[in-house]
Amino acid sequence: MSGADAIRKVCVIGAGTMGAGIAAQVANAGIPVLLLDILPREGDDRDAVAKGAVAKMLKTDPAPFMSKAAAKLVETGNIEDHLDKAAECDWIVEAIVERLDIKQALYARLEAVKRPGTAVSSNTSTIPLNALVDGRGEQFRKDFLITHFFNPPRYMRLIEIVRGTETDAGVAGRVEDFVDRMLGKRVVPTKDTPGFIANRIGTYWLAVAVNAAIDQGLTIEEADQIGGKPMGVPKTGIFGLIDLVGVDLMPLLTKSLTSTLPAGDPYFDTVRPMPMVDAMIASGYTGRKGKGGFYAFD
Ligand code: NAD
Repeated sequence: MSGADAIRKVCVIGAGTMGAGIAAQVANAGIPVLLLDILPREGDDRDAVAKGAVAKMLKTDPAPFMSKAAAKLVETGNIEDHLDKAAECDWIVEAIVERLDIKQALYARLEAVKRPGTAVSSNTSTIPLNALVDGRGEQFRKDFLITHFFNPPRYMRLIEIVRGTETDAGVAGRVEDFVDRMLGKRVVPTKDTPGFIANRIGTYWLAVAVNAAIDQGLTIEEADQIGGKPMGVPKTGIFGLIDLVGVDLMPLLTKSLTSTLPAGDPYFDTVRPMPMVDAMIASGYTGRKGKGGFYAFD
């Protein structure tokens, strides 16, 4: 059975920038989605985080990321009350915070509820697959792969897919077929290395560009006008891209890469403490998803 027939319901865990966008794309393709996130800090609606993400997908500027009809296919919930419903799904996509310990803790809980043969994939930007499945049983390791969507999932046509040494070819093949035929994405098969292809290069040039802007005393606007086009991001520029990706993701990527790359890698020469970025994150300036970032948003 191909992925387009075998995957009839998808569970997306993590309703942030990427999880919400992935869920929207799956629903746009007419496939029911279960979208789960953590409990809100306050308020009595326990599903508020995922519900808020759906509302945002219907409003995304300049065009909604999801149609109203597709939104009806998205069931929202939280992982405390509804994780067992992941057993009804044929593919579980994890898109939670870029932290190995938090992802591993979620997989341990998922392992207890999922059906054998149901694919589980991580949207991690940088963390090698072998580290993610460390401690999990044989069946989970067979069902596990990395599906690295690019941001925004609505528009980006490539997807990096990493199969581990133990990943079952049938499980991975069904997911690859689904993302190709149902989501219209071209699969880039990628080796299990830190940052894979895109973030091995991307986080390096982002760091180089930010350091160069600081060293040369450029304003954000000047840096983006000078650097955006030559670096292949003419619409947003470098700092606009960081706002899109999430300012808070930057230190998580740096930390993840520096903990996995071999000593002597040139990436270490580009990584510097960025107190301004830390202060922005602490005040909620996490980019488009927050109060604003390097740029202001309505
Ligand atoms: P985000 O911060 O926007 O969203 C993360 C979501 O995960 C939040 O809604 C948070 O509440 C939730 N979460 C945190 N801990 C959780 C848990 N234990 N269980 C369930 N939900 C939990 O992050 P994001 O930018 O969407 O990134 C998600 C993943 O996708 C990361 O692994 C990241 O590296 C990767 N990624 C991000 C981008 C990007 O451009 N932002 C691109 C490709 C891949």
